[in-house]
Parts: sequence; structure tokens; C-alpha cells
Amino acid sequence: MAIATNLKNINETIPEGVTLVAVSKTKPTESILEAYEFGQRIFGENKVQEMTIKWEVLPKDIEWHMIGHVQRNKVKYMAEYVSLIHGVDSLKLLKEIDKQAKKNNRVISCLLQIHIANEESKFGFDEKELLHLLESEEFKSLENIKIVGLMGMATFTKDINQIRKEFKNLKVLFETTLSMLADVKVLSMGMSGDYQIAIEEGSTMVRIGSSIFGARNYS
Ligand SMILES: *Cc1c(COP(=O)(O)O)cnc(C)c1O
Repeated sequence: MAIATNLKNINETIPEGVTLVAVSKTKPTESILEAYEFGQRIFGENKVQEMTIKWEVLPKDIEWHMIGHVQRNKVKYMAEYVSLIHGVDSLKLLKEIDKQAKKNNRVISCLLQIHIANEESKFGFDEKELLHLLESEEFKSLENIKIVGLMGMATFTKDINQIRKEFKNLKVLFETTLSMLADVKVLSMGMSGDYQIAIEEGSTMVRIGSSIFGARNYS
């Protein structure tokens, strides 16, 4: 009941053209089903193992997005079914995704994660690394991955101007990427606390967890 109400309220604040990823990490399958019954079909998880268990038991028309940091040795467990990997932060990881996608006769859609926050702990490419990657022959030779856009996480702060500035920077890089690659259309930015700013700054995909499912308990 609460989940459906939350979803309804959030959907009302999200304009057409912006996709909602319901971030269900740590939440039980019952909660996901509640959102599913309300019509939500895209769910985001940050651990491959947890996502795979949920994929196995839940309806097959759910699109699973991997939004967390991905270890290369885990790619094989999701290669069969994952619909979008948000946090691609190295050529090495991209090559492993390409390899596992090939084994599964698939082309896996990926977002390149960009480091926009002024925090050490957040993963991702900076501008120079991004351009270097996009121009490299090795990158261009990968056939079983498709880069459909960029993803970023703003600094965890109450300073709205700081958050806005970081989203603006990401949008600039998104425009650059758009001009270099054919399939780019997704700009994944914005979470429960900052998605409205992200949308104002050009987000096309928001990843919202706690505002839908409630606060997470990490044990
Ligand atoms: C957990 C997580 C989210 C959702 O965070 P909320 O604040 O609960 O909305 C979004 N993006 C990433 C990468 C996450 O790990």
C-alpha cells in the first residue's frame, strides 16, 4: 500500500521522457512485487548476487538494471539477463561485459560512469579518461556492448548549488558523448534526495530507492 502510494506520488513529479528506475537493493521480493503490481517494470540493484536471486524468482518481464560498482568476476552471473549496466568505470570491465555478452549471444547496454562528485569514494571516469576511452581502437572493436549513455552521482551534501554544478558538468559530457557515439540517449542522474535538480539539469533516467521503498536497513 505505502509503496504504491509512494510510486504514484513520485511518478507525478517525473515528466514524460524521464525513466524511473526503482532501486530495490536490500528490499524483499514482496516489496518489489508491490511496485510491480502498481505497474513498475524497471528495478535497480547494486549487488549481482542479490539481483540474480531476485531475477530467478520474480516475473520475467522485469528489466533489471545493475546500478552499483561491478566486479569483473561477477559479470558472468548477470550476462544472460541484465538489461542495463549503469556503473561501467573501466575498459577492463567493458571488455569482460563484451566477452560474457558474446557467450550469451547478446549485446549488453551500458552506461559509462562519470566521476562528478568531489568525493574520493565515488567511481568513474573523468573527462580526459572518457575521451581517451571513446577514441581508443580497443573500445571501438567491442561488438557485444552498446554504450547508451552516461551515469553519475553527485556529492552527498545539502548544498544544492554544488549538486546542480555537478549535474551541469555531467550534462556537458553527455552532449559530447552524444556527438561521438550513435546509440547514446540515456543520462542517468538523480536519486531520492536530488532527482528534481537532476531532472532540471537534463536527466533522462532517475534511480530512486528510499523514497519508494522506505529507508534501508543495512545489517
Ligand atoms: C542506492 C542507490 C540509489 C538510490 O538511492 P536512494 O537515495 O535510496 O534513492 C541510486 N543510485 C545508486 C548508484 C545507488 O547505489
